[in-house]
Amino acid sequence: MDFSEPERVRILRGTIREFVKSELLPLEPELGKKGFAAMVPVLKEKRERAKQTGLWAAHIPERFGGGGLSLLEFAHMSEELGRTPIGHYVFNCQAPDVGNMEVLMEHGTDAQKEQFFAPLVRGEVRSCFTMTEPEFPGSNPTWMGTTAKKDGGDWVIRGHKWFTTGMEGSAFTICMAVTNPDAEPHARASMILVPTSTPGFEHIGNLSIMGHRGGDWASHAEVSFQDARVPLANILGEEGMGFVIAQQRLGPGRIHHCMRWIGVCERALDIMCKHAATREIAPGKPLGTKQIVQSWVAESRAEIHAARLMVLHAAWKIEKEGAYAAREEISLIKFTVARTLGRVLDRAIQCLGGLGMTDDTPLAFWYAHERAARIYDGADEVHIETVARRILRGYGLKVKTG
Ligand SMILES: Cc1cc2nc3c(=O)[nH]c(=O)nc-3n(C[C@H](O)[C@H](O)[C@H](O)COP(=O)(O)OP(=O)(O)OC[C@H]3O[C@@H](n4cnc5c(N)ncnc54)[C@H](O)[C@@H]3O)c2cc1C
Repeated sequence: MDFSEPERVRILRGTIREFVKSELLPLEPELGKKGFAAMVPVLKEKRERAKQTGLWAAHIPERFGGGGLSLLEFAHMSEELGRTPIGHYVFNCQAPDVGNMEVLMEHGTDAQKEQFFAPLVRGEVRSCFTMTEPEFPGSNPTWMGTTAKKDGGDWVIRGHKWFTTGMEGSAFTICMAVTNPDAEPHARASMILVPTSTPGFEHIGNLSIMGHRGGDWASHAEVSFQDARVPLANILGEEGMGFVIAQQRLGPGRIHHCMRWIGVCERALDIMCKHAATREIAPGKPLGTKQIVQSWVAESRAEIHAARLMVLHAAWKIEKEGAYAAREEISLIKFTVARTLGRVLDRAIQCLGGLGMTDDTPLAFWYAHERAARIYDGADEVHIETVARRILRGYGLKVKTG
């Protein structure tokens, strides 16, 4: 087995690392004080510079205007971008747009590609994804209240959604709605494209998350569909294909997220080590001379290293055999890396003391916002149950779904 880094990946990592260091890290103090929405004009300039690197929307093939990276290559890029909270946004590969682009590329008609996909890849618009509902468990999305009914040449959508990331300022949403209520559970829902300007689509407000309402892309909205009408042609794929498409969206999506979290971990470890090496707890006695701090450093390094190997292996398997064959590996990385992220951030904050709680470093922002890593894209417990059931079935245990 060859673990050496391919030349293309080495150059890619170097380019992104340099860009992050020179263009993005200097913006972090202002970002910490003012919040994301206030930074949008300056980030717009950075996005123009990002285009010049040839790595804009790098997960999308070049023929569609992206950077043309493979999943494995993009995984490396995602780690480098993850070192700052604004990295993915500046390179137009932020969630949920990244997943929406992939879905539109795979399942969009020519007309949908022209109207929705092309402006998204060019970065002229943003999008959002409306699946989760306050009244129903997101962990069991086959059970949802939002419906889309045919009326003449339109879908008429009615329902209530929340946790719609990046809805504020977005041009359209991909809405998951029940279109075939009498079909078996996994064939009941469809994905439908809804411009946010559609009459009947209402932004109720942004959710307050850990004390922050956020703004623009960095926000999570509550929305409602009050008989919102869109043409029948706005369906993605066939009727009832919503869950098939959602599964395809989530496989690579979990690689993107996990590698971003590894980038966050690397940065947190970097901040922790710099502090441990220089902060003196008594004259001539840096913090890093304490065994407990050394333990935080070494354990973090080991956990990050293990996590990265697991994610790269899962990405490799998706590329070789497809997301379905790699479903166990995908579940394993989702809960393992999310937990590593929590532990590394916690140690880094502890090491910095009061400074770790301020917004002078990105640690506090990540600690608040990335706690969600253990919940979105499948809560830890759902992935753990999936993996355990598969293993135990191999031992003859009869485990039912649900
Ligand atoms: C920051 C953030 C951003 C998000 N962005 C989006 C978005 O853009 N679009 C969107 O549609 N949704 C989004 N979500 C929603 C997310 O996908 C859901 O929160 C997630 O699927 C869990 O659903 P739920 O919140 O309804 O929790 P529930 O399904 O009610 O589950 C609650 C808890 O129950 C436990 N649980 C659930 N199932 C099992 C089980 N089988 N075994 C044991 N325990 C179990 C878990 O601990 C889980 O955390 C986002 C969420 C967050 C936090």
